[in-house]
Amino acid sequence: MKVPLLDLSPTLAEQRQEIIDKVIQVVDSTRYIQGPEVEGLEDEIADYCSVSHAIGVSSGTDALLVSLMALDVGPGDQVLTTPYSFFATMGVILRLGAMPVFADIDPISYNIDPSAIEAILEKDSERKIKAIIPVHLYGQCADMKRIMAISEKYGIPVIEDAAQAIGAEFYEPESGSENGNWHKAGSLGVCGCFSFFPSKNLGALGDGGMVVSRDEAFAQKVRLLRNHGGAPKYYHSMVGGNFRLDPLQAAVLRIKLKNLEKWHGQRRENAERYNTLFQVEKLIEPAQITLPTAVFKDPVGRNSRSNYHIYNQYIVRVERRDELRNWLAQKDIATEIYYPLGLHQQECLTKMTNPHPMVHTEKAAKETLALPIYPGLTPEMQEYVVKSIADFYR
Ligand SMILES: *Cc1c(COP(=O)(O)O)cnc(C)c1O
Repeated sequence: MKVPLLDLSPTLAEQRQEIIDKVIQVVDSTRYIQGPEVEGLEDEIADYCSVSHAIGVSSGTDALLVSLMALDVGPGDQVLTTPYSFFATMGVILRLGAMPVFADIDPISYNIDPSAIEAILEKDSERKIKAIIPVHLYGQCADMKRIMAISEKYGIPVIEDAAQAIGAEFYEPESGSENGNWHKAGSLGVCGCFSFFPSKNLGALGDGGMVVSRDEAFAQKVRLLRNHGGAPKYYHSMVGGNFRLDPLQAAVLRIKLKNLEKWHGQRRENAERYNTLFQVEKLIEPAQITLPTAVFKDPVGRNSRSNYHIYNQYIVRVERRDELRNWLAQKDIATEIYYPLGLHQQECLTKMTNPHPMVHTEKAAKETLALPIYPGLTPEMQEYVVKSIADFYR
């Protein structure tokens, strides 16, 4: 049996004709820059994320870049972020002439550890750090309650890299009460950044991205920077870029957004099925496999309700990772390593500086493996994956 890491055809099949009809309609409209499809998607995403503003942009990378530009981050500045993410999170910082400062991850959630953030900020006596970028890795929110408390204490804005986490939610218990509030990824910081890269839970037919914000002035600035900073047109008080989202992509995304919650549900079901199958095969910690978790060590044992994980990736931590990966490849099962190096280990950075070792990140980079989790993956395929892993350890 062949099991790809990602197959977009099952979800495409659900909407293929509707998408094609829509593409033809946009082509015939002759409206190819900005316009009603982009504005429509912005309204719908703002609604979906419970924020007041959404600005369509050209990619997740550009969403991060334009957000840092809106905070006037530049040469001499520093930005605090996680060393365990896709390169774009750090690339945008370096492109603006600023430097990343890394806080290591929590080894259970793989997300940035708030205690490590605080330890760094305590030592930042020159106040060089201008922003904090937590990443909601794999579709699970970082500990935004603590991160926002730190952000407020030090007066440093948070840009949420929610590229992998559109629709993920973070639960904030009310102290001394049974109640609490759910917050959508991207809705707590000064802004949240999404990517519509095809492999994300909401993927376009190419590149696209979105910045969401509750802050009117910030959103207005991002809107201007998206289009070369001109206001009124041809009068430029600041330097932006061409970071616009294509109407063609926006139109397709509006169709796909209608099915997004259903697809999140299918990914979550698949994750549950893996969890059960690994239990049945008795492969779970303290044996060979550590399952992904929607549980924080902290805060207060709220367990799995703390997070609505959308499983952009299903990540296991395994013994003899590289050998296992080869074994699975021989059985036609595709897997991936996200990510083989910490950002602090990337050559383009180590040439400039000599960053501190990041213990939990470097360990995760050697031990984690992404298994297929996409909507449309069949139970038979999942059984085959788990069986093959069990065979490896026997
Ligand atoms: C995908 C991704 C990005 C970049 O998004 P693009 O749309 O590919 O530019 C940024 N950060 C993270 C964490 C990502 O996974």
